[in-house]
Amino acid sequence: MTRAAEAYVDMDVLLQRAGARIAALCGAEDAFLTTGAAAGVVAMVAAVVAGDDPARVRALPHAAWPRRDIVVQAGHLVDFGAPIEQMVRLGGGRVRSVGAVNAVSRSDLEAALDGEAAAVLYVQSHHAVRRGQLSLEEVVAAAHGAGCPVLVDAAAEEDLTAYVRLGADLVAYSGGKAIGGPSSGFVLGRHDLVAACRAHERGILRPMKVGKETVLALVAATERYLTRDDDAERQAWEARLEGLRAGLSGVGGLRLAVEADEAGRAIRRLAVGLEPDAGFTLSQLVARLRRGSPPIAVRSHRLAEGWIALDPRALRPSEVDVVVDRVRTEVTALRRATAP
Ligand SMILES: *Cc1c(COP(=O)(O)O)cnc(C)c1O
Repeated sequence: MTRAAEAYVDMDVLLQRAGARIAALCGAEDAFLTTGAAAGVVAMVAAVVAGDDPARVRALPHAAWPRRDIVVQAGHLVDFGAPIEQMVRLGGGRVRSVGAVNAVSRSDLEAALDGEAAAVLYVQSHHAVRRGQLSLEEVVAAAHGAGCPVLVDAAAEEDLTAYVRLGADLVAYSGGKAIGGPSSGFVLGRHDLVAACRAHERGILRPMKVGKETVLALVAATERYLTRDDDAERQAWEARLEGLRAGLSGVGGLRLAVEADEAGRAIRRLAVGLEPDAGFTLSQLVARLRRGSPPIAVRSHRLAEGWIALDPRALRPSEVDVVVDRVRTEVTALRRATAP
C-alpha cells in the first residue's frame, strides 16, 4: 500500500489488470474491483438492469424501462448491516420476492422468471434462512432455463471458486471478511457482465471507487489467502479457542459449548450461555463487555436463543487472556450485584 501510494498510475489499466489477476486466481473470466460486497451487489444489479448503454448508465438509479426486477427468495432478503433490498434499488432494480421465508418451490421461482425479470439474486450467507430455500444449483437451472442471469452475494464466504463453478454469472465478495484484506471487494464472473459493471464507474459506482493502494493490497491479500496454510491457521484458531474454553470453565453461572459455524464454514467458536440460576441475563453481560475497557464485542445474533459466541479468529494470541479476564470480572460483578 505504501509503494502504491507513491506511484502514479493509469487507474483504468490498473483496475483491469488487477481484475484479470484476481479472476485468474479464482477461476473466473474477469473481475471488477470495488469498495465491498455491498457495492458489488449494486454493481451486479446495475449491470443486469442497465447493461453498458451510456444513457442508461447516466439514468440510474431511476430505471424507467422494462425488465428491471431482481428475483430474490424470501429467506434471502437479509439485512447485513444495511438491507440488501436497498442495494438492489440503488442499482436500479426492484426486488421481487418469491415464496415464503420457510418455503420456496421451484414453481414459485419459475413463475417469477417472466419478461420483467432481469436476474435472480442468491444470497449465500449466515444471515440468510437456510431451510426451505432453493439451492444455488436449482436456481441456476431454473434461471438459465428462462434466459436470466444469476447473481450471488457471497460476501463472507471462504470459497472463491465454487459459485462461478456452479454456474453463477456474477459473484460478489468482501475483501475484508474471509480474505482478510483491506476494506474492499470484487465481483467475479462473465466477461460481458463484468464489462457492464465497469461501465457504471462512469455513473452510479463513482462514489464507490477503490484507490490504488487498496487495489494492490486486495490483490496481495487474495494471493496470500489462496496460498495460505489452512492446517496451521486452523491449529492457531483451535489453540485460542481452547484458551478461551479453559479460561472460562468453572466460572459460576456460565455454560460453555464449542460449536461449529452455523453456515457450514470451517470455523469453530466458543458458545456461552447461562445456568438457569445465574442471577443475571446474557444481555447484561453483553452490554457490560461492550462498555468496559477494552471493549469486548461478542457474536450476539443468537442472543434470543440464549447463546452468545466468542470467535477465536478475531483475536491475537495475547488477547485470549484479556477476554477471559474481562468476562470473569463482569460475571463476578453481575453476580455480586444480584446476590440475595
Ligand atoms: C457483509 C455483507 C455484505 C456487505 O459487505 P461489505 O464488504 O461490507 O460491503 C453484503 N452481503 C452480505 C451477505 C454480507 O454478509
